[in-house]
Amino acid sequence: MSSKSGRQLGKAVWWNGKWTNSEDAKISLFTHSLHYGLGAFEGIRCYKTKTGQAIFRLPEHTRRFFDSCKILEIKIPYTEKQINQAITETVRRSGLKSGCYIRPLVFLGDGPLGVFPGFDPPVEVAIMTWVWGAYLGAEAKAKGARIKISSFSRGAVNHTMSKAKLTGSYSTGILAKLEVKRMGYDEALLLDTDGFVAEGSGENIFIYRDGLLKTTPLTSVLPGITRATIIQLAQAEGIPVQEARFTRDELYTAEEAFFTGTAAEVTPIREVDDRKIGSGKPGEITKSLSKKFFDIVEGRNPKYSKWLTKI
Ligand SMILES: *Cc1c(COP(=O)(O)O)cnc(C)c1O
Repeated sequence: MSSKSGRQLGKAVWWNGKWTNSEDAKISLFTHSLHYGLGAFEGIRCYKTKTGQAIFRLPEHTRRFFDSCKILEIKIPYTEKQINQAITETVRRSGLKSGCYIRPLVFLGDGPLGVFPGFDPPVEVAIMTWVWGAYLGAEAKAKGARIKISSFSRGAVNHTMSKAKLTGSYSTGILAKLEVKRMGYDEALLLDTDGFVAEGSGENIFIYRDGLLKTTPLTSVLPGITRATIIQLAQAEGIPVQEARFTRDELYTAEEAFFTGTAAEVTPIREVDDRKIGSGKPGEITKSLSKKFFDIVEGRNPKYSKWLTKI
């Protein structure tokens, strides 16, 4: 099944506990979240392994989905267990055999249309699936992305609730991305309101120099599950990891840099603001951590099979 945009969709959508065909899942123009942007989502990947398909770190994603709801005062009328089961079943019913991207979405439906949604607005929960390849393009994934620092900043910590995957906050990410894509770059990098490196429009960032791997602290960025995974894998390899703020010039002089995210997976960064990072090719540490990541998600490392939920 494919959508208007040619995307290959999973067959079934789970919507408020019922099953619908992806193409028949339509919402009202009077949907509160469409007007004001209060909603939350998750991005999860399911990979093909030797023993069938498996979802990577499902309980962690569902937990973050519930954290987002809590931050946004959305009363989700399901338990984490019910959502885990619904996600697994949506993948089963998708008909997509070689892995897929999973998108749980929660939003306020057709109810009061003022900014004040009332204390008991209708809450809509849906789970969709589709096929999503290399998020920043096959070339970026293989050779490294060319990125540019955007003139738009990541929101101040008391403005953008950075621990929530809040739908409305992506408007800044979209503006940043449009700005740099128009100039021919693969992805935008946003600084925080103090001018330190924050993250990409949908990815966390790591740099490596002199034996130390660094990533931004969680203060103003989304707590990425891929970020946490890479930190754990690096530490298991004996690579010291520091969560500390760094500046754009520290990024320019890094030996290696890469993005992490469910959509972007591990994507090397080969250029920032037209400056080569290291040799301008994916670095050795980046390649080694990326290989470890793909070995785990594709089921080739039994030590981490606890992170896989079989379909
Ligand atoms: C989703 C997202 C990430 C990556 O998080 P993962 O859990 O690794 O997918 C990073 N930054 C932003 C802004 C995001 O939306």
